[in-house]
Amino acid sequence: MNTRKSENIYQEAVKYIPGGVNSPVRAFKSVGLNPIFVDKAKGSKIYDVDGNEYIDYICSWGPLMLGHSNEDVLSGVEEIIRKGTSYGVPTEIEVKMAKLIVDAYPAVEMVRMVNSGTEATMSALRVARAYTKRNKILKFEGCYHGHSDSLLVKSGSGTITYGVPTSPGVPEDVVKDTLVCRYNDLESVQKIFKEHGNDIAAVIIEPVAGNMGVVAGKKEFLEGLRAITKEYGSVLIFDEVITGFRLAFGGAQEVYGIEPDMTCFGKIIGAGLPVGAYGGKREIMEMVSPVGPVYQAGTLSGNPLAMYMGYKNISILKENKNIYKELEQKAIKLENGLKENLEKLSVKGTVNRAGSLVCLFFAEGPIENYEDVMKCDVEKFNIYFKELLKRGILLAPTQFEAMFLSNAHTDEDIEYTIKASYEAMEVAFD
Ligand code: PLP
Repeated sequence: MNTRKSENIYQEAVKYIPGGVNSPVRAFKSVGLNPIFVDKAKGSKIYDVDGNEYIDYICSWGPLMLGHSNEDVLSGVEEIIRKGTSYGVPTEIEVKMAKLIVDAYPAVEMVRMVNSGTEATMSALRVARAYTKRNKILKFEGCYHGHSDSLLVKSGSGTITYGVPTSPGVPEDVVKDTLVCRYNDLESVQKIFKEHGNDIAAVIIEPVAGNMGVVAGKKEFLEGLRAITKEYGSVLIFDEVITGFRLAFGGAQEVYGIEPDMTCFGKIIGAGLPVGAYGGKREIMEMVSPVGPVYQAGTLSGNPLAMYMGYKNISILKENKNIYKELEQKAIKLENGLKENLEKLSVKGTVNRAGSLVCLFFAEGPIENYEDVMKCDVEKFNIYFKELLKRGILLAPTQFEAMFLSNAHTDEDIEYTIKASYEAMEVAFD
């Protein structure tokens, strides 16, 4: 595989950009490679600057449910750009977008657009704290909610604990109000609520975690969270930045039949442009300025181009709900193929799947929380990743991320992936 042009760009990139990339995972560091630089993408395929073609399972980390450069999503975009790229005063498409989201999510009565998932969760927490007049928040180990200070925490020793910063630059004072519990462990939540329940403003969770591979929240666990937050008057926030409009049109909350108080969105609602949103009950959302006192703003929030693309993306999903069934069928095919490979080669591994999110862990299951995920054989994954790349398959360059399927992935793509995965596992576990 020739990657000379990518290598040259990378050598230049590291001179001007930390690590040569604008988001750390793109550096391919954890798999011991240098990044490939992309030229273009179409459907399920991505092409690097050296002309190598890959079946893409990163899909921009989730926004591209319909694949790259979908013609229906793109149509009319040029006209929108030519009218103007940003106004700083409202446009009608923002209202249409808000209505589309509110109609799809019964738990969301009002919504505010922002520019990223990070902004969505950060803002939702601010509103929840103001609404409850409390400071503490509770998150779960292995869930990622973006890179705002108070959410960059991991648990200290023990399962119920105060968070400690995962990054220098995050003062301990800032995370002193962030509590961390174990995913899928309701008992740990009950204990912490007993001690701190009346001070907890919000519980934030990925109902299906997509940032420690794929780990689905158990129904009883999520129902337990709903019940305990209700009992103590804390705000339950579902971070559906990945799962929103992906697991089902109505997200994880539709699948589980649980209504959170607030919901965060991103990814699919921007179709690959920088967008996030947070919404929830009217009473809570009316805390937000200019109706209420909670300040939150953005020069480019509700950007007309991003709204147009996102609106198109979601509208297509709304009109073609069979996409969800088709996509799940493809994901099941991939799941079964990967499981068969593990069995045939007697490799210790587990395949977790939720809707169109799939993850192959090189560890024995069940994998239900961060501790389980950490048992994975990362060395083997790294070899597996490289062997797949050589065979024209692009996975996320770390064991701890999901495979994102899109509607553009064909049955042939999946069949080839299963075959290549078998060969790559053979090499990794030789
Ligand atoms: N929440 C979840 C569940 C995510 O997966 C991510 C990003 O991957 C974020 C929040 C942060 O979103 P962004 O990267 O757009 O800031």
